Amino acid sequence: MGKTTAKSVLVGGRKVAIRPEFMQMAIDTALKGIKKGRGPFGACITDLDGKLVSCAANSVILTPSPTRHAEVCAIDAACKKLKTHMLGRHIIYTTTEPCLMCRGAIYWAQIPVIVYGTNQNDARALGFDELNISDAQFLRIGKRKTAIIRGFMRKEAKGIFWKFRKISGKMY
Ligand SMILES: [Zn+2]
Repeated sequence: MGKTTAKSVLVGGRKVAIRPEFMQMAIDTALKGIKKGRGPFGACITDLDGKLVSCAANSVILTPSPTRHAEVCAIDAACKKLKTHMLGRHIIYTTTEPCLMCRGAIYWAQIPVIVYGTNQNDARALGFDELNISDAQFLRIGKRKTAIIRGFMRKEAKGIFWKFRKISGKMY
């Protein structure tokens, strides 16, 4: 795993900035999404230089499809845009700790950096059913040295859940 500080991470010996504006974008995408009936989760993908590639909100109910988590949607959009299935020089910013399925998608896309806001316990506390594995389990069972930045802008990301509850009045 890359050595992490609050705002940067080492990827293959290179110092890469973790930028709050991209987590804010993921949060804004989720907030916009819930007004349109989407789930309260958002994700953005940038390259290691900080260029935005894609943003997506959860669209499980809207599609409808159980695989349309924000992370999978953002990965699909990035791959389509870049015409590749490999995002080995990219960062995924996601408002909530990725579930088992999304960690799988992130792994197969070879994304070397995961940045997340709220954790699985935050989501579970609000009534979401989280199928998850821990960061440690993910790093242990996989072969890649993924850098994981936890709790990045957690408080701001958590605000999505409260807004969702207010707007929809229901949980999944
Ligand atoms: Zn997921």
